[in-house]
Amino acid sequence: MRFKDLSRLKRPEPLIITLGHLPQHILMTRYAKDKAFKISELVGVIFEKSFEWYGFTLAHNYHPELIADIGLPKNDLNLLDHVNLGSERIAEFQELLPKDMMINGWIHSHGALNYRHFSNMDEKNHLTVLDFVAARTRKPLAKKEIAIQDLVLLEKDRFGKKDLEKGSVCLITDGPITEAKIMETVFGSFCYSIVIGDAGWHEQQIHCRERGTLSVHATVKSQASNIEFVDTGKSLSQDDINALKDEVEEKIKPHTAPPPELIERM
Ligand SMILES: [Zn+2]
Repeated sequence: MRFKDLSRLKRPEPLIITLGHLPQHILMTRYAKDKAFKISELVGVIFEKSFEWYGFTLAHNYHPELIADIGLPKNDLNLLDHVNLGSERIAEFQELLPKDMMINGWIHSHGALNYRHFSNMDEKNHLTVLDFVAARTRKPLAKKEIAIQDLVLLEKDRFGKKDLEKGSVCLITDGPITEAKIMETVFGSFCYSIVIGDAGWHEQQIHCRERGTLSVHATVKSQASNIEFVDTGKSLSQDDINALKDEVEEKIKPHTAPPPELIERM
């Protein structure tokens, strides 16, 4: 037998029905942005020197894609420790948050340095944060057909062992059917990473993970992103700044003798 058209031999494309999307750019309130740069400024004022610090980007549960606030955990082992973010630290911080708030990423400062990139250590931290926040930022992205060769359709109470020996997967239904498609839900999760400098610059990425429920096929990708700043009417008041000053004094304890390999690790 000769095929006139070889394209007929191609596997059919699986059916995919899109249900949702992960964020393509970062949404951040001006309040959160101002707060982040204010922390850097206060660190400089209080400790009379620029230091790195890190925090979490926070969202309301009803809008996980919008960074509404910045949360400052204890940076007590600063410099040495924050470059290696552990999930326990993130969990500790999440515990202290109001129930209607969630972590949707992390932010850190490179201080006065003009190092406008994420380091290798930062890349590891992105994945730790993504792992932690994935359950909270998770949403269905698509239903995707799972192509099963030799799918066998059987009817409840009307098959024997011989029937089970056939095919690769069988679908047992409560009535006679002749055709079936198996569709799995593909879930997606994301987290944000932002790095800022005292000079006012910021760089950011979105990290996304997609995973099929049945096939357990997972992909993770990171991409540089823009930030869209959103005015919500909320601004950083003098009271906010005073409270933030106390928080910075309490939570950021700079390591006064940074190790020589610091810059390499940043
Ligand atoms: Zn860094």
